[in-house]
Order: sequence, then structure tokens, then C-alpha cells
Amino acid sequence: MSFLKTDKKFFFFLLLLGLYWGIALEPAMLIRIYVINNIYDKIIIFLDWCFVSFMALCLLGLLAINKYVFAIFFPVLNIICAVLTYYLIAFNYTFNSGILDAALHCDDMRIVMDVISWQLVLFVIVYLGISILFVWYRFKIGSIAHPIWYSLPMLMIILAVNLNRHYNYTKDRVPYNLYYVCKDYLQIKKKKNNYRPDQTAGTTCNEDSLTVVYVQGESLREDHLSLNGYVRQTTPLLQRDSVISFSNIYSPYTYTNPSLAYIFTNADSLHENRAYTNRSFISFFKKCGFKTIWIGNQELDEGFVYYAHECDSIVLQNIGEFEFDYKPSVWLDEDLLQPYKNFIAQHGKLKLAVVHTIGSHYFYTTHYTKDFAVFKPELTSRIITLNTQQQIINSYDNTILYMDFVVDQIIQSLKDKNAMLIFLSDHGESLGENGKWLHAHNEEMSNHRPACFVWLSDKYKQQNPLAAATLKHNAHLYFNSSFLFPSILDAAHIHTPLLDTNMSIFRMK
Ligand SMILES: [Zn+2]
Repeated sequence: MSFLKTDKKFFFFLLLLGLYWGIALEPAMLIRIYVINNIYDKIIIFLDWCFVSFMALCLLGLLAINKYVFAIFFPVLNIICAVLTYYLIAFNYTFNSGILDAALHCDDMRIVMDVISWQLVLFVIVYLGISILFVWYRFKIGSIAHPIWYSLPMLMIILAVNLNRHYNYTKDRVPYNLYYVCKDYLQIKKKKNNYRPDQTAGTTCNEDSLTVVYVQGESLREDHLSLNGYVRQTTPLLQRDSVISFSNIYSPYTYTNPSLAYIFTNADSLHENRAYTNRSFISFFKKCGFKTIWIGNQELDEGFVYYAHECDSIVLQNIGEFEFDYKPSVWLDEDLLQPYKNFIAQHGKLKLAVVHTIGSHYFYTTHYTKDFAVFKPELTSRIITLNTQQQIINSYDNTILYMDFVVDQIIQSLKDKNAMLIFLSDHGESLGENGKWLHAHNEEMSNHRPACFVWLSDKYKQQNPLAAATLKHNAHLYFNSSFLFPSILDAAHIHTPLLDTNMSIFRMK
């Protein structure tokens, strides 16, 4: 065992590296060991922690065989994993392809800044300092006498664990998850296609005067609306407006980009790919002579930029204004009302407005005015776990009260017209259930259950008594969020070979 003697320092370095990684980058496991009472569970989690740290050590050890390779890759890996660990602690966010997609395609600097804090910056600085210390130590050791004694077993262990198709425990842990998440992300990206053929041939409409408004909600879960029986009065104006709530909508996606792609096109659970190959319902409205507009309070991200450009015009509010402002104090949906009113006041009897809100997106308190801060105490820290669950729910509920006001304003402007409005949120939101916050989680009862409601003007009801009655009848039924495309075309009496009216919420089930 002479190699142990000659490479003693390197051996010690590896031990230190593994221990550091386990403590600094898997703190959640250590906290669980501390918190859990059952001694048996404590032992199991401790053994898990040892295994995860050992697997990380194998990879880092391979890098450390060559000091120059280590000097380049270790600090990079350490900082990236430190950022992921920070979000795991601060937001309970587990890194996945959805979050990577959201992060890479979030052109909206304000959303980015909302999840950046001085604590994160401090975190990165500390981990960078530790990286430098490890690199310095590695250089001090110099060359290793028997690199093969280390590299071969480490490589074999990595391959053995990662090539196990049935159970790969490292898949979700740093640093291995970096590879797996990127692989997942690239596979999904392949499905996206920029060329979308015009499929509006044969489209007709027998309306001569109709205003349709589609309000794209954001992060609004159905069970926090008093419309749906929530104990707090969060939707008093919408209740007065007698909107018809659809409280049993299932959204297969839990974050904005894929969800909008799915909702706007004729994609459904059997044809998900249509979200990336087909145009949206907007093109069909245009074909029938509707004036179309996209009024957005969010930057146009990859998942829905195509649809905005199908519209005759695009108005984006609050864009760029806060890019250099570390923390915007307000970012309000009422800013959409003026361009909306301007559009409605224009000439023309056929109109479609798509209103894309910021709604109930985190950081909640920036998305409503003081008048709507009814439920208190509110959120205080941008690090979600530094607030109590009650503070988070209070601020979230205030965003709903504010949405109630904004959508009611739109409804008021439509009352004397032949008009209809559909509101559908892109997904729901976790408010502490199963320890989860925000969205992009696979949480059935919170993330997959978006709020949805429909409002019809008196004129519309008079002209379409059957559709109005059917809508009420269907309101309690279960629908997939793919209902939007066939329903909005059906409601506007647009006929096209692509339309399957059986999927419309305006048809008797
Ligand atoms: Zn969203």
C-alpha cells in the first residue's frame, strides 16, 4: 500500500473535499437528520447523505487528479451548485428542466431580480472564497504518484451508478443533476419549431359585431377565490358581475412558457406537440376580420412570443423600466387598462384583446396597491422561507383582490356591447403544501389547478341563450386547460376545419 503513503496528502485532500461538499451543498439532508425524531429515519438519511457525498467526491476527485483541470472546473461547479443550493434553501426549489427553461428564457429582468437578494450574492462570494482555498491546497500538493489508483475506481463507481437505468440515485443531486437537467431540457427544446403553417383555410364567421377578451391569468389557483367558496372575500366584484366560474380545470403544465403554448393552440393531452407546430386561436380571429391586440405585462418569452406576433398590434407595459432597479416596488396590472380602453374605443365591430397579466406572480406585494393590502401581515422578505406561511398567503390573497378589481374594470367596459370575457390562469401556486412554494412543481392540488371563469354581456346572452345556459350547466365539470382553443372560437361563432366543438365548454356535455 505504498501509494497511500506517497499520496497521503492527496488522500486527505479528497476526504476534506467530500466532507465539504456534503456539508456545504447538501445541507437540506443534514437539517432533516437534525429535525427528524425517529432514530431509524435519522440513520437512513445519514447513510443517504454519506452516499450522495461519496458520489460527489468521486466526480470531484477525478477532476482533482490534474491540478489545472481542478483549478478551472471546481470553482465553476462549486458556484453553480451553491446557487442551486441557495434556491433549494430559500425557495425549496429543486432544479429541473422547467426551472432551467424559465431561467434561460426569462427575458424579464424584473422577475429575475425578484429572486435575487444580497444573501445570494453573499452566498456566492463565500463559496468562491472556499473554491480558491481548495484550488490553493491542490496546487500545494503538486503531482500525484499513482493517479491511476484513484481515477480508475472513481470512474468505475460513477459509471456503475449512472448507467443503472432502473435506479439512479445521483440523478437529482448536485453535481450530477446539472447533466441530467440539461439533457432533459435539450430534449424538450428539440420539440419546439419556429415554422408554423397557416391553417386558417376554410375559416368562416357569421358575427358582425362582437368583442372577445381573453385574460391570461398568472399563478392563480382556483381554491383561493371566494367565487369558489374560499373563506376570505377575494372576488367580491366578480361575484357581483355574476361570472361563471370553472373550478375544475386541470393544467398539465405548472409554469408559464409551456402552459401558454398549450392553452393558445389546439394542442391537447393527445397532441401536445401542436403547441410547437401550430398557430394560436388569434390567427383564426384575424382571418374572420377581428382586430387583434396583445396587451402584456410580461416580456414575450419563447413559449408565447409567436402568438403575440400573430396579433395586429402588441402593447407591452412596464417593460425595461425596472431593468436597472434592483427591486421594483410596483408592477401593476392596472397599467394594462389604458391601452385596453384605447383599443376598445377604436373603430371596428369585431375585436379580440389578449390581456396577459402579471397577476399573482411572486413577489406578491409588488403586484397590488396599498388599497388592496387587506389581508395582513404581508410578506416582508424576498426570501420566501424567511416569511411565515400566513404572511405569504395574506399577500397572495391580496393579489387576488387586486385581480378582482382589474378584471372588473375590463368587464365594466364591455357591459353595453355584444361581448364575452374568458379568464384562465396559466397554472396554480404552492403556498406551503408539502413544503413547496410558488410554482413549477408537480403538485396536483395547488400547481395543476388554475382559476378560470367566463363572463357574458347581456347582449351576448340574449343572442346566444343556449350557449349561456350550457355554460352554466358545464361549470362544475372537469376540463383540461386545452378547452380554451375550441371554446373561444366556438363562442365567437368561428368555424374552421380544425375546430372540434365537442371540446368546447359552450356545448352540452
Ligand atoms: Zn406563470
